[in-house]
Amino acid sequence: MNEIVRVNTRTGTITKHEVTSEEARWGGRYLIAKVLLREVPPTCDPLGRFNKLIITPGLLGDTIVTTAGKFSVGGKSPLTGGVKESNAGGEAGKQIARLGIKAVILEDQPIHSQAHLLTLTANAMTLAPCAELKGKEVSETFATLRERRGPKVGILCVGPAGEMKLAGAGVAVTDAQDIQVRYAARGGLGAVMGSKGIKAIVIDDSEAAPARAFDAGLLRETSKQFAQTILDDPKTENRHKFGTPAILAAANALGLLPTRSFRTGAFEHADAISGEQVAEVIAARGGDGQSGTTCLRGCVIQCSNIFPDPSGKKTVASIQYENIALLGSNCGIGDLDGIAELNDLCNQVGVDTMEIGAAIGVAMDAGLIPFGDAKAAADLIRQIGLGTPLGRILGSGAVIAGKVLGVSRVPAIKGQGIPGYDPRALKGNGVTYVTSPMGADHTAGNAFETARTVNPLGKEKQVENSRRLQVRAAILDSMGICLFTRPPFVKHPEFFATFLKARYGWDVTYADVQRLGIDCLATEREFNQRAGVSEEFFDMPEFMRDEPLAPHQSVYDLSLEDMQQIWNVELPAGVF
Ligand code: SF4
Repeated sequence: MNEIVRVNTRTGTITKHEVTSEEARWGGRYLIAKVLLREVPPTCDPLGRFNKLIITPGLLGDTIVTTAGKFSVGGKSPLTGGVKESNAGGEAGKQIARLGIKAVILEDQPIHSQAHLLTLTANAMTLAPCAELKGKEVSETFATLRERRGPKVGILCVGPAGEMKLAGAGVAVTDAQDIQVRYAARGGLGAVMGSKGIKAIVIDDSEAAPARAFDAGLLRETSKQFAQTILDDPKTENRHKFGTPAILAAANALGLLPTRSFRTGAFEHADAISGEQVAEVIAARGGDGQSGTTCLRGCVIQCSNIFPDPSGKKTVASIQYENIALLGSNCGIGDLDGIAELNDLCNQVGVDTMEIGAAIGVAMDAGLIPFGDAKAAADLIRQIGLGTPLGRILGSGAVIAGKVLGVSRVPAIKGQGIPGYDPRALKGNGVTYVTSPMGADHTAGNAFETARTVNPLGKEKQVENSRRLQVRAAILDSMGICLFTRPPFVKHPEFFATFLKARYGWDVTYADVQRLGIDCLATEREFNQRAGVSEEFFDMPEFMRDEPLAPHQSVYDLSLEDMQQIWNVELPAGVF
């Protein structure tokens, strides 16, 4: 991965250059932070010509390390107004890395709106109009391009919502088997891709030379140990059997499951939408249904699933905790088939299930449709795809929906909808939502995993805990490794220094890896400061400080001043 590809979407020019020695050490989220701060005016219009969309595999993207191959998409977010990195599995990230590409940067924007297709192969890079794909839903776009280019290419695309530049739009990606639709969903980066006039990117790595590791033996051996440590962790079996919905029952028991637009933290139909129930339905219906599949080749955890309808035909792949929490309990919907349909509609239209689930919850709170009405919710998502005025409002996210519908009780921080963990009952996540440069984003530092060791309802240790988790997340997102590999990371942080030695020959220690995570966060914070969206201006939504959350009757009581202490310390090496 030693080339950066730049696509000028106004002139159609594509150039590539070799990375400098400094750029060589960047990857994934870290690269996005660095490029954004260096090249994008922080106060620019996120949907204007000076923003850039950066697509980059992590530092380990072209290796055999299990789960490596996640790729990051980044730019200035139309939702938060600050830095945004969103990552996804699927196969395209690995394919970009196999082409030797460290980053693809989409620059400028076309004068006339026209859908374009970018194609990257080992021998050519082309940008061509694709009027036939304009307005097409995601699966149809994938199918058309598959027919044209064969089953093995990787594809990224936006749906109609991205083309309409709606701030709830994400970037969709194919998986290895062409079954799942994965998403770099958060922050409205699909709208940024749409603003560049790029409908889809096809990646064909069939003629790429295999990447050479500095020490292939060391890489193989360390990868094996790493995979074994993951397999030995009890959480892995749970994730494999029940997918990410495995945590739903615990989230409900802890009283942090968003329910009816964050009015309570426990849902009376939680049993009907739990991970156990997802697995049971999949097993009972058979057909296309499958639990324990992967989103990218070589993952030993295999937390994905294919959820079938009663006849066994695939409804959606993969149904995940966040989708069930925001489109399900948050909307008062306790029926898995209804939730699966909403999930699939979001995937096809090209929007973030979390942002849209939060926006529909706000619409339900406003009385536009009743809580629990899955059919009416489906109609709202269809309206997003059709671009009706109401659809465009909801597709712009929870905050805009709240403003237009006169709802002040909006579960969002820094413009972004709160994900599936109510911060009143998981206060560490509250610290992350407020202080992370990403805004309300559970993947930026999720305290759910530490709920046994740090009292989720107390104020104590929440700031330190969030800091540790945020640094860890920044490291994993820069490596291109799945967040679910946290167990070995906690037990054996030295794996990451060894991986970098084996892949690149770098003599680094874990303290260096940790510094990378800290520098990533510092760079992101600097961008946000210059953009005028630094964390001191964004607090918890007022209702979360006033309104007790059942069943624990807890309110969010960490002060903004306390939370702002988060970066006022020196992080010692080896604390993980
Ligand atoms: S653990 Fe799940 S999300 Fe992570 S790489 Fe594996 S299948 Fe994908």
